[in-house]
Amino acid sequence: MGYLLKEEVMNAILGEWRRDYDIFAPVCLKGKGAYAGTDVVRYQCIKDWSEIVFDKKAQFSFKEVLLPMNQTLFYFTEDLVTEENRKEKGNLVFLRSCDLHGVKRLDEIYLRNGGEDYYYKRIREQTRFILMGCGESFDSCFCVDMGTNQSGNYDLCVNQRDGFLEVDNQNPEWKELLAKYASAEESITPDAVSENQVSVTISDQISLDVMKSKQWEEYSARCINCGRCNFVCPTCTCFTMQDIFYTDNGKVGERKRVWASCMVDGFTDMAGNISFRQDNGSRMRFKVLHKVYDYKKRNGYHMCVGCGRCDDICPEYISFSNCVNKLEHMVEESPPHLRSAESVERKEAAEHGNE
Ligand code: SF4
Ligand code: SF4
Repeated sequence: MGYLLKEEVMNAILGEWRRDYDIFAPVCLKGKGAYAGTDVVRYQCIKDWSEIVFDKKAQFSFKEVLLPMNQTLFYFTEDLVTEENRKEKGNLVFLRSCDLHGVKRLDEIYLRNGGEDYYYKRIREQTRFILMGCGESFDSCFCVDMGTNQSGNYDLCVNQRDGFLEVDNQNPEWKELLAKYASAEESITPDAVSENQVSVTISDQISLDVMKSKQWEEYSARCINCGRCNFVCPTCTCFTMQDIFYTDNGKVGERKRVWASCMVDGFTDMAGNISFRQDNGSRMRFKVLHKVYDYKKRNGYHMCVGCGRCDDICPEYISFSNCVNKLEHMVEESPPHLRSAESVERKEAAEHGNE
């Protein structure tokens, strides 16, 4: 059901939602940007409608709500393990279409990729989504080519107009509340962009032969393995585990999981002094092919949702979208004797000391 709402009623609606939910949305943090005197748009828990930033892209994604950067799983003593308490309130997240497609990728990894992840599932079940319509594309977005510019699986969508809002509600629990504050009923479709300034082409003909392209070496020289591209990505899901032992009793502590990055040192370290992908070009190759090649082989759709955040954040101006566009050319440029998956796998195994 669609409604027209005046912006001034939104704080009353947020107030009612806040009884059941913590509300997360992109907000502007003044002076908190990476450089002195700059601002940044990031996700925060909000109380007031005016805090929500509609006209800029959030530098980090909504991902922190479902998958906290630093999450305590349980507390332990010598003979007792206690689970972290479940939050009483649910989460209500304002996000854009690409990010809502990102939720599908997180669900794939944490709920359908083997066993269900208990800690993810309990947050996910408590979370509702409000789609922010996109009236125009931001600079680095390529959602149209990734097919993520439109979404239908929201609880509510909001199109911002001059002084009022168009909303479409798909959550039966909110019907009465919205009808109470609505100025009118109307059929509403979420705003969606139909073109971006950035375009990517991903050929179905790409094969693992691209792994042997010399072009990956360019990234060994340019990338500083800071991991920022992974942290802003709404579809990167890797974490590492940490046991924290308290100083007043070294046998008591807590187990946490914290975000990890396939671009930083140590990510592939294994017992026996083994470590894969030690140069930054190999790490870039792994990340790019995971986003636009092997994830699709397994799940039938690309992992990347085309939000462009990795391009925006890279301090070395490395562009993921440019790299994706080079893939087809990389196949042509790789030596013919290496153009088969089997030969590549053999060479990789040899490099890693398995042959
Ligand atoms: S790889 Fe880059 S463009 Fe694709 S979803 Fe991740 S951050 Fe967005
Ligand atoms: S943000 Fe750029 S420099 Fe940092 S790891 Fe990613 S590609 Fe490398």
